[in-house]
Amino acid sequence: MVKVGDMFYVYSEDKNIRNKGEYGGAITSLHKFLLEEGIVDAVIAVKNGSDLYDAVPTLITDPDKVIESAGSLHCGTFNIAKVITCYLNGAKDMKIAVTVKPCDAMAIVEVAKKGKIDLNNVIMLGVNCGGTLPPVKTIQMIEEIYEMDPDKVIKEEIAKGKLIIETPDTEKEISVDELEEMGYGRRTNCRRCENNIPRMADLTFGNWGVIGPMAGKATFVEVTSKKGAEVLEKAVNAGVIHVEDPMPKGIEIREKIDKAMVNLAKKWQQKEFKDKKDVIEIFKEYMEEFRKCIKCYGCREACPLCYCEECSLESETPEWFKRGEIPPSPILHLERLLHTIDSCVNCGQCEDACPAEIPLTRIWHELNCRVKDIFGYVPGSHLKAPLTQGQR
Ligand code: FAD
Repeated sequence: MVKVGDMFYVYSEDKNIRNKGEYGGAITSLHKFLLEEGIVDAVIAVKNGSDLYDAVPTLITDPDKVIESAGSLHCGTFNIAKVITCYLNGAKDMKIAVTVKPCDAMAIVEVAKKGKIDLNNVIMLGVNCGGTLPPVKTIQMIEEIYEMDPDKVIKEEIAKGKLIIETPDTEKEISVDELEEMGYGRRTNCRRCENNIPRMADLTFGNWGVIGPMAGKATFVEVTSKKGAEVLEKAVNAGVIHVEDPMPKGIEIREKIDKAMVNLAKKWQQKEFKDKKDVIEIFKEYMEEFRKCIKCYGCREACPLCYCEECSLESETPEWFKRGEIPPSPILHLERLLHTIDSCVNCGQCEDACPAEIPLTRIWHELNCRVKDIFGYVPGSHLKAPLTQGQR
């Protein structure tokens, strides 16, 4: 019997899915199985859009189409919680399975607490994440640093700290550290992120810890909820996926890599955060940045955690929110901060959307880390109310 805490090496029993999947296609097979069995009405996964750098969230209801979503797209930088709240009525009237990076899973949990997503109807298949890549900069990096044609790239992969770029005739790898020193590599929010294994999801999958003959052919799965245990057990019994015990050394390696990534994230935080202890002091330090604001509301639109139906930032009263005045009073940012600072998951959407290039995610992350230091509250890690402690 599969139970919470169990760990396995796992791969798909379907040869086509195994070939198309990133590390054995277990996630794709599970999505297909959940649809075929009617356990869910739809799957949300990610597909190539116009090219490899254009990752598109996709709703799939036909089990035979799930295979189109196999594989990992490191330029897929959106937050899936927003898709569920904006387009699927928070999964309140349909059952879904969704692939989630840690920041997707954390945002889903935070939004669920606010009553905007029904977690009873959601199965989260989590992927470990060491970071995503900014699409435009990545295209530029492939041209300038890798000296390869971005249009010819058939695969990008992060393995053993290296970003590997592959075309039909050649393959080149450069260490992510080196790329980041040159100003390329992962998105800046991802560099600072300490959440690599999404244990708030129902199952978590990743290549870390898969060693020996299974390396590259299977994914490591950790069972992180009862719902996840049931799904995995049903799929194994149905002969959809193959599971086997992981190598003890593999478990150790996975832990070690996770710790090393957390330490690296802390170093980035130290490097980027202002050396201030007080939340208001930190906010004051960024006043000049807020003067760049053109009040386009892009940050609010992109934020998976902005949930008010009527937004006070568009009110004509008080008068400092009046239309047509830019930059707006920094109170606008303070107000947004008060709404989201407890629950910010550092997903980077606000900063990606900001045309004025205000380092919004850095500011929110820095302030959120201070709130975390004071209250011990880690957004998205459990279902308790904000600013209370304890795990799910
Ligand atoms: P598949 O069966 O190929 O399924 C992959 C699933 O991921 C599909 O549902 C696909 O639609 C979805 N997907 C693809 N791109 C994205 C995206 N950008 N956002 C959300 N969902 C997406 N594992 C590690 O151990 N260490 C890492 O550092 C690591 N980094 C990752 C970074 C990213 C951006 C992603 C997407 C995955 C990462 N993984 C990492 C997980 C790993 O790449 C595999 O996804 C995992 O091992 C499952 O393999 P699989 O063959 O079962 O997946």
